[in-house]
Amino acid sequence: MTALLFTNARIVDGTAPERGAPMDVLVEAGRIREVAPKITSAAAETVDLGGRTLMPGLIDAHVHTIACLADLGANAKLPDSLVTVRAMKLMGEMLMRGFTTVRDVGGADHGLKVAAAEGFFPAPRLNISGKALSQTGGHCDFRGPYDDRETIKTGFALGALGRVCDGVPEMRKAAREEIKGGAQFIKIMANGGVASPTDPIHFLGFAREELLAVVEEAENAGTYVSAHLYTDAAIRRAVECGVHSLEHCNLIQAETAKFAAAQGAIAVPTLVTYDKLSSEGAAMGFPANSVAKIDSVRLAGMESIAIMREAGLPMAYGSDLLGQMHRHQSEEFVLRGQVMPAHEVIAAATFIAARLLRMEGQIGCIAPGAFADLVVVDGDPLADLALLTHQGRHMPIILQGGAFVKRTALN
Ligand code: ZN
Ligand code: ZN
Repeated sequence: MTALLFTNARIVDGTAPERGAPMDVLVEAGRIREVAPKITSAAAETVDLGGRTLMPGLIDAHVHTIACLADLGANAKLPDSLVTVRAMKLMGEMLMRGFTTVRDVGGADHGLKVAAAEGFFPAPRLNISGKALSQTGGHCDFRGPYDDRETIKTGFALGALGRVCDGVPEMRKAAREEIKGGAQFIKIMANGGVASPTDPIHFLGFAREELLAVVEEAENAGTYVSAHLYTDAAIRRAVECGVHSLEHCNLIQAETAKFAAAQGAIAVPTLVTYDKLSSEGAAMGFPANSVAKIDSVRLAGMESIAIMREAGLPMAYGSDLLGQMHRHQSEEFVLRGQVMPAHEVIAAATFIAARLLRMEGQIGCIAPGAFADLVVVDGDPLADLALLTHQGRHMPIILQGGAFVKRTALN
């Protein structure tokens, strides 16, 4: 791998409200070797960025790479071969939007992670939970009210977001099986959901003893639990039981946000999926009873961002899109930019997400020793977050692990 020297780069990494002064960045053997105002290297190929913006590769902390259909019940019935190919395509498109790492919070298995890392197809670094855990009638139970056939306990389809388990022993076993299978954290459905048929938003998922058990299993394996959550009561209960990664959080209130911040939790709002489910969901095959639930969480979403920011609860970037709506992945930047400063929005997809993935210093920063995951942006995203949208149109260069995945001539 050739060494690369990027010169005259204005760094934007979410730590400051203004672009940095021009810097040089030396990349060797897939890693960032040096960042300084002036670097000379005889061995490296020089790429003069001419004052363009240089960002760490973006991180999306809430995706479902296997959700090729908006109807998740139907998605779970597709053959694994079809889901694999469609997931690789979805991942390739994520990478070309500048997302060099994504955290899959339900569905992707270890095989998909290995396939992404092998590099035969362009794909982000993949961080996975394996199958999400749901109770009977919860957010991953797509059987509907008139189907009482037993749920399967093993051999899950790749297209299934999750698996059903009930009671402490099944919960512990399911968590252990996911960790054995390569899960890097455990995802649970601890509240009603929009995409599922029999769980209104206000339902609490799992008993406290089940939540405490799964948190213990995750911590025994040196990791954490991420939970699907909307209501204030569900979030408070989850944090009390030790849940660390709080997905969605649309209906959170100030006291709970402060409590979660004090416990060291990280929230992962996903405003864009409700925005797009509302405008496009029905046309994309999202079931009618699910469409009817959207506004109960969508309308409170923007307010939740302000509440969490005020409470000092860190927020990582999440998109949570399904099927053809994946193309809106970068629009979460613009939505959040309506309620918080641009550099804080960018921080969600850089160092805050890296902390959540427990990869601080490795990804989400431009510093010696980090992976050389880099995105060049034409213009200043701190002045216009929409430069990060449009499928990477304003990103002439995308680098992953020191290799170009996109290289357009700079002029
Ligand atoms: Zn969810
Ligand atoms: Zn999700």
